[in-house]
Amino acid sequence: MAELIDGKQLAKTINARTQQAVTQLKAQGISPKLIVIIVGDDQASQIYVRNKHRKAKQLGIISETRQLPEETSQAELLEIIDQYNHDDTVHGLMVQSPLPPQIDEDAITRAISPAKDADGFNPVNVGNLYSNSPLNFPVSCTPKGIMTMLAAYQVKLAGANAVIVGRSNIVGRPMAALLLNASATVTVVHSHTKNMQAYTREADILIVATGIAHLIKGEDIKPGATVIDVGMNRDEDGKLTGDVDFDSAESVAGKITPVPGGVGPMTIATLLQQTVELAKWSE
Ligand code: NDP
Repeated sequence: MAELIDGKQLAKTINARTQQAVTQLKAQGISPKLIVIIVGDDQASQIYVRNKHRKAKQLGIISETRQLPEETSQAELLEIIDQYNHDDTVHGLMVQSPLPPQIDEDAITRAISPAKDADGFNPVNVGNLYSNSPLNFPVSCTPKGIMTMLAAYQVKLAGANAVIVGRSNIVGRPMAALLLNASATVTVVHSHTKNMQAYTREADILIVATGIAHLIKGEDIKPGATVIDVGMNRDEDGKLTGDVDFDSAESVAGKITPVPGGVGPMTIATLLQQTVELAKWSE
């Protein structure tokens, strides 16, 4: 049976370190502050953001939502982002997806100051990541959290065959860059890949981020591989489930993340860790 990678427990450790860092910063007169902008009333966003704020408050981070109406124009949103970019009391800024159709997500990502980019999505930061610049920060939180997990569970990266299923800007692509920077041999597969299983079966490290429940089965996994399941899907009975078929995978994999309790808690812990690092950086 595979060793379980306990994201929930590791997130607690990261959160405790973040809390200590917040205390130290406050002693220097800096109060880390995160602003999350929501446009419209997408219910999933509201829940997700509420969870972020609750956790942030527990750690002593000032965390505020700027709720804007569904009909907010792109110009109005850009103006508000500009105000936060110039507000020295704000260290982390993010705009929650999804955005209404009148707003161009790419323009918004570009508008957030790279120095306050809590999500790590600004192209300047993405470029730094892809060029493995020493200024390789901030970085998209889900893949960054996965790197923390791999390190905590002593998964060897240099020379490992890493296969990433999915190529989104928030997970697959930054994950590929982080693993490449760590000297893994990286393959990214996606919906156009022919015979995807031929790649996944060769993976020492398999990272799955597709949003398709149970896409990867035990037979698609190399025996002993480390399997990281990013997927968050709802079963017919409403239960949260991953992109990996856990029951068949756990007898093949060497290490595996559960859903829930794997990547999810690490993403929020990493966002808050990164916000505090941005506050430190702003000194
Ligand atoms: P996207 O929908 O943006 O991307 C999905 C990717 O999966 C695409 O690259 C797509 O390929 C690929 N894909 C779809 N079908 C297949 C297939 N049959 N075979 C191979 N590849 C396929 O999703 P995200 O990256 O945003 O999220 C993925 C999952 O991770 C979701 O369940 C999401 O909820 C979850 N998630 C969880 C987080 C957490 O903190 N736990 C954080 C972020 C996401 P193509 O590009 O060709 O269309």
